[in-house]
Amino acid sequence: MSILVMKFGGTSVANVDRIARAAKRAAVEVAKGHDVIVIVSAMAGETNKLVGWVQDTSPLYDAREYDAVTSSGENVTAGLMALRLQEMDIPARSWQGWQVPLLTTSAHGSARIEAIPTENILRKFDEGMKVAVVAGFQGISPEGRITTLGRGGSDTTAVAFAAAFDAVRCDIYTDVDGVYTTDPRICAKARKLDRIAFEEMLELASLGAKVLQTRSVELAMRYKVKLRVLSSFEEQTDEAGTLVCDEEDIMESNAVAGVAYSRDEAKLTLMAVADRPGIAAAIFGPLAEAGVNVDMIVQNISEGGRTDMTFSCPNDQVLRAQHAMDEAKARGDIGFDDLVVDQGVAKVSVVGIGMRSHAGVAAQMFKALAAENVNIKVITTSEIKISVLIDRKYMELAVQALHDAFGLEKAA
Ligand code: ADP
Ligand code: ASP
Ligand code: MG
Repeated sequence: MSILVMKFGGTSVANVDRIARAAKRAAVEVAKGHDVIVIVSAMAGETNKLVGWVQDTSPLYDAREYDAVTSSGENVTAGLMALRLQEMDIPARSWQGWQVPLLTTSAHGSARIEAIPTENILRKFDEGMKVAVVAGFQGISPEGRITTLGRGGSDTTAVAFAAAFDAVRCDIYTDVDGVYTTDPRICAKARKLDRIAFEEMLELASLGAKVLQTRSVELAMRYKVKLRVLSSFEEQTDEAGTLVCDEEDIMESNAVAGVAYSRDEAKLTLMAVADRPGIAAAIFGPLAEAGVNVDMIVQNISEGGRTDMTFSCPNDQVLRAQHAMDEAKARGDIGFDDLVVDQGVAKVSVVGIGMRSHAGVAAQMFKALAAENVNIKVITTSEIKISVLIDRKYMELAVQALHDAFGLEKAA
C-alpha cells in the first residue's frame, strides 16, 4: 500500500467548485493505486476573517479561544471535501485534528506537533476507505484543548502526516505552479525553480516567502519527506512544480537563490535605557514571555551610560510589546524615556547557500538598494542570508532591484 499526501491551500478550496476540482485531482491519484490523505486549509480569506473577529472582540486575546475560533475554517472544508469525494463514489471520511488525534504542545497559536498516531486512519484504509480528509492547521493539546499551528500551518500538517505515514510524497497544491526566485506576484521576472535546497527554502520561508510554512520545511528536512509544490489550477504530471530536496541534488549554483520579503514588520526603539549588564535580558525576557517574536536587534552606541535599543517584531504584536515594556517599567525592572514605534517598515532578504563561497554579496545588495535611493534602517546577516529593514513603501522596488542585481531571471 502506498500513501500519498496531498495538501490544498486556501485558494484551492475557496468555494465548492474549487473543492470539486481538488477532489478530482485526488481521484486521479486514487486511480493510480494510492491511498490518499488530503489535508485542507480553510477557504481563502476565512482565517483572516476569523482572526479579525477575535481581535475586534479582545485585543489582547486569550490564545486558547483564538485557537477555538480560528481552527474552525478547516472543519468546513474538510467535511465538504469528504462529501464531494463520496459524491464521486470514492470512499472518503473527514477528520478534525483532535479526532486523528494530532497531538501538539500547548503553545496556543503556534503549537508544535508532538505525535500523530496512525492507527485510526490506517484501520479505515484497511476497511476500504480511499481518501482520508484531514483538517489542516489544528491539533489537540495535552490538556485536551484545540490548538493551531501558526499561520500557514496546514503545510506543516501535511508534511507531518507524510512523515508519520511514510508517504511516497507530499504534494502541496497552491495558487502558483511552484517555488520562484521571489514572489511572482510582485516581481514579473521571477523564475520558477525546478528544485530548491531544503536549507534555502527554510530561510526563504522564515524570511517571509509564505509559499511554505517554515516548520513544514524543517520537518521535511528532518524526516526526508519528498516535498513538492505545484499548482491546483493546471493539469499535472509527476514532474510538475518544484521539488524541495537536498543540496547535493541540485546543479544550479547562483550565489543568491532567491529574494524574500516580509511586509508586516514593525520597528520599536526604547529611548535612553541604562547601558548596564543585564539590560538586554531585562528587555527581551518580558517580550518573550508576552509571546512577542523579536527578530532584528540593534543596540546603539551609548552616551552618558544610556543607549537606545531597537528591535523589530511582527506588526500585530506591537500592542503586546508595548504592554510588556510598560509593565517592566512599572515594576522598575527597566527605565526608558520613550518607546518609539514605526509600523511602516518591511524586511527584504536575499538567500543562497552559494553565499558561503561567494564574497561581496552584502556589498552588492547595499549598492543595488543605494542605486534606488532606498534607505536601510537595520541589517542582519547569517551564513546564507542578508536581511534589511526598509520603509514599506519601497519594498516592491527593493525586491525587483535585488532580483535584477543578482541576475535571478536567468538560471546559473
Ligand atoms: P496557500 O493558500 O495555497 O497555502 P499561500 O498564499 O499560503 O497559499 O502561499 C502561496 C503564495 O506564496 C503565492 O500566491 C505567492 O504570492 C507567495 N509567494 C511568496 N514567495 C514566493 C516564492 N518565492 N515562490 C512562490 N510563491 C511565493
Ligand atoms: N488557514 C490557515 C491560515 O490561513 C492555515 C493554512 O491555510 O495553512 O493560516
Ligand atoms: Mg499557505
